[in-house]
Amino acid sequence: MRQTVHIDQPESGHGERQSGDRSRADRPAVELGGDSFAVIGGPCAVESRSQLMTVATAVAGAGAALLRGGAFKPRTSPESFQGLGREGLELLAEASRATGLPVVTEVLDPRDVELVARHAAMLQVGSRNMQNTPLLREVGRSGLPVLLKRGAAATLEELVLASDYIRREGNDRVVLCERGVRSFDPATRYLLDLAAVPALRALTDLPIIVDPSHGTGRAELVAPMARAALAAGADGLMIEVHADPAAALSDGPQAMRPAEFADLLVELRRLAPLLQRRWVRALSRDRATSRPLDDEVIAP
Ligand code: PEP
Ligand code: MN
Repeated sequence: MRQTVHIDQPESGHGERQSGDRSRADRPAVELGGDSFAVIGGPCAVESRSQLMTVATAVAGAGAALLRGGAFKPRTSPESFQGLGREGLELLAEASRATGLPVVTEVLDPRDVELVARHAAMLQVGSRNMQNTPLLREVGRSGLPVLLKRGAAATLEELVLASDYIRREGNDRVVLCERGVRSFDPATRYLLDLAAVPALRALTDLPIIVDPSHGTGRAELVAPMARAALAAGADGLMIEVHADPAAALSDGPQAMRPAEFADLLVELRRLAPLLQRRWVRALSRDRATSRPLDDEVIAP
């Protein structure tokens, strides 16, 4: 039996809620797995309010299901931008309220799980922490869905065993993410292992998504790999988007521009039904961003 994972927009305590909050019926929720196909889009890192709002609005308007953005960044060098921390989380919560998109963001430290969980709808455990067992246990206890990314040198069995740490805490809402493994060839940042998608199906009942941004490290390779991931049976994608990639504080070379992202999503929405997939996005009746997409067919 394949699992579907529901991601709910938090009821309250999602950052500082404003008065006039939406009722339960209006709160968007999205579903990953089953016959659905969901795209997560957003910047690598939250850099500023205007940077995030620009991208969040574009990502919502393009028909994505979730917003991503790192407030705690796992950088290779301690000299690099480490993220805005708590301020970044507050901006993400604000962007989520403004667009209606639930937010997924990375937590690096078990001590921050509670803080991050107050601002996000889904917690991300990054590649570098796939086998950080105290963190896996803590996110397992958080009660929120978890996006678990494959370590850059982890086998698929190790990835599934890492997901078992989360599930042992009573949390079955786990989504696995293939994001590329180390190879000998510097032509791409990592080697995107698309065979991992069907191979993982035999090992786990969890939804599986693909991150072609980190998987290639090159913006021009993201669209072809995104199409291939859908064809390979992925349940969704995670894609980095930045309005000015050259000025990005992290991962600029792999960021799509908003217009490129929107074009890709139009294409994927057309392909999805051919592959027996249903396009999923956060729906909330009272949001401008939830107007039907230009090319969207709404069932009567
Ligand atoms: C990310 O998605 O922000 C990220 C840091 O990716 P990874 O953990 O796959 O390197
Ligand atoms: Mn990144």
